[in-house]
Amino acid sequence: MSIRPLDVVAKEAAGCTRCRLAETRTHVVFGVGSSDADLLFIGEAPGLHEDKQGEPFVGAAGQLLTRMLEGIGLSREEVYIANILKCRPPGNRDPLPDEIEACTPWLVETISVIQPRLIVTLGNFATKFVLQTQTGITRMRGSVYDWHGRTVIPTFHPAAILRGGGEKSRQFGELQEDFALIQRTLHAPAPAPSQRPLLDLRRDEQPAADPDDQLELF
Ligand code: URA
Repeated sequence: MSIRPLDVVAKEAAGCTRCRLAETRTHVVFGVGSSDADLLFIGEAPGLHEDKQGEPFVGAAGQLLTRMLEGIGLSREEVYIANILKCRPPGNRDPLPDEIEACTPWLVETISVIQPRLIVTLGNFATKFVLQTQTGITRMRGSVYDWHGRTVIPTFHPAAILRGGGEKSRQFGELQEDFALIQRTLHAPAPAPSQRPLLDLRRDEQPAADPDDQLELF
């Protein structure tokens, strides 16, 4: 399978009927930002406002994310923002395992196109999916993980901060520490291209030289 431009992938995803959420969504919320971004954020799923507008992170949690980005000198246009699920679960319930399984090939293809240097997972669902861990975000955050020659930084979901005491909470201080870590990591010299294997995570691809490195991730 060849790498497709992101707008072609998004156009196909706009008609997706791979799971039950197709029946209740207003818009497929594919993602927003630069298809050449060094930094990719992965959230959980669209909420009410995202479903209405077709863009991720535009509600209160999105406004906090945008402020955090601006705090480290970045705009939404310079990064890419996506979610584990492209469609809103009714009532903002948690994503179900079969929905994650049906939907994440879109995200995997997105990662394969963008080839970001740094992936920031927001909250438990994104962190567990990318790092294949059962460990909760409170223990995972604060560290940097290597993943296929790239870096993953897990942090709290902005909605969890807003639900849990807002900007006066300890977690908000930790979110700020994590964004400082994101900034430092982005400014660190990039590994030489030879040390950065191209990510190709699609399941129907033949295993490359090191199969363990390819197929166990998703
Ligand atoms: N929460 C998410 O995880 N994603 C959004 O796009 C909005 C809120």
